[in-house]
Amino acid sequence: MHHDLIVIGSGPAGAAAARVAALAGLRVALVDKSAFPRDKLCGGGVTGRSMRYLAEIFDLAPTPDLFLPTNQFRLAFEGRRIGGQDDAPTLHMTMRHAFDAELHARAVAAGADVIAPARITAIDTGSPTVTLADGRVLQAPVMIGADGANSGVARALFGRPFDPAQIGFGLEIELDRDLTPDNTTEIDLGAANWGYGWVFPKNGSITLGVGGVHLRNPDMKAHFTRYLHQHAPHLADSGKLRCKGAFLPFGAYRKEPGRGSVLLAGDSAGLVDPITGEGIAWAMKSGAYAGQAVVAALSAGRPDRAMPLYRAELRYIHREMDAARRIRALIYSRPVRPHFPRAVQRHPAMSRGYLRLLAGEMDYADLGPKVLLRLIRNLGGSMLRRAR
Ligand SMILES: Cc1cc2nc3c(=O)[nH]c(=O)nc-3n(C[C@H](O)[C@H](O)[C@H](O)COP(=O)(O)OP(=O)(O)OC[C@H]3O[C@@H](n4cnc5c(N)ncnc54)[C@H](O)[C@@H]3O)c2cc1C
Repeated sequence: MHHDLIVIGSGPAGAAAARVAALAGLRVALVDKSAFPRDKLCGGGVTGRSMRYLAEIFDLAPTPDLFLPTNQFRLAFEGRRIGGQDDAPTLHMTMRHAFDAELHARAVAAGADVIAPARITAIDTGSPTVTLADGRVLQAPVMIGADGANSGVARALFGRPFDPAQIGFGLEIELDRDLTPDNTTEIDLGAANWGYGWVFPKNGSITLGVGGVHLRNPDMKAHFTRYLHQHAPHLADSGKLRCKGAFLPFGAYRKEPGRGSVLLAGDSAGLVDPITGEGIAWAMKSGAYAGQAVVAALSAGRPDRAMPLYRAELRYIHREMDAARRIRALIYSRPVRPHFPRAVQRHPAMSRGYLRLLAGEMDYADLGPKVLLRLIRNLGGSMLRRAR
């Protein structure tokens, strides 16, 4: 089966790539191992940045059937409140099975040819060609791998889907809605090392989870149980935990987002914010960039141009990841970490800044040297006061 573009994976990255390319008139094969709707382990926190990309790429507005808006925010450290607002910038909470099904439907409506559920038995990244278990063979001048953190396309290109020294890991559980009376979103920066815990209210349930850099949390289950105990002691004590886990590429992005005529987008390219854990926005944006690069390259009759065009567009996202990684290394470092909660408490501007980042009102690039110096001064001040 000949197409102009094969997209592997129809999460936010793949659906965005397929939609953009199909709208531009390309014949797109959109391959997924699952039929939609399907589940995806995720907090389902849709930031202001994600909302912008949803409108821009998918023409999707925040409708109440898909999203629960929340303005109440609590920032905690090991169960203690250290900041927050009742009039925080709006975050939207969603269930991924419904959210992803909507994005997938919009890629299909744009004209993408869906091949799902499909089991891939071989990927030839040179031609590029994909062989399916039912014997079908898909061929196109360009392929986009958008098959998530455990990407088979990245494995076919580089021998492994991610760097185990850098990867993040998260555990989650869906809880009864009546566990919290209001719609407060909580982030607890002390619930895991180099990561955090979250309570995200949804329409009909609550998602509670912990996540962080895998190597720094050898017993993530213990962090999870402790955090669950703070919110639902009866469940934690019952021992009947039905939590699920998944890897998330917490800022360990691939400097080379693919090779030759194979581009990687979203989690398969490692595009998750290393501090906030936000991956949906960058998945959609990188998917759209990849789709646009393929459209431009094929219309010039130069499939080999897709990769350099895509790499150039990704520069901004990579710069954001680099800036966030530097801040993460500072605030989670061993000498600073014990002082971080106190500094946040003394300086509410720090938690306001965090909220503005989540809301997409500000990027790391906007922080500038002045804000970073203030962050270092606040942290240093707290450390000195403590020492005295
Ligand atoms: C516990 C946890 C909590 C998170 N919470 C948040 C949050 O609150 N907010 C946020 O913004 N981000 C969050 N993230 C990150 C976010 O889930 C990801 O960054 C985002 O889903 C990446 O989108 P993607 O399209 O790249 O990959 P995915 O959403 O993983 O989609 C990949 C697609 O590829 C398909 N696929 C996989 N393998 C194959 C195969 N072999 N053949 C064919 N198809 C295949 C899958 O079925 C899937 O449809 C969280 C992640 C985790 C693990």
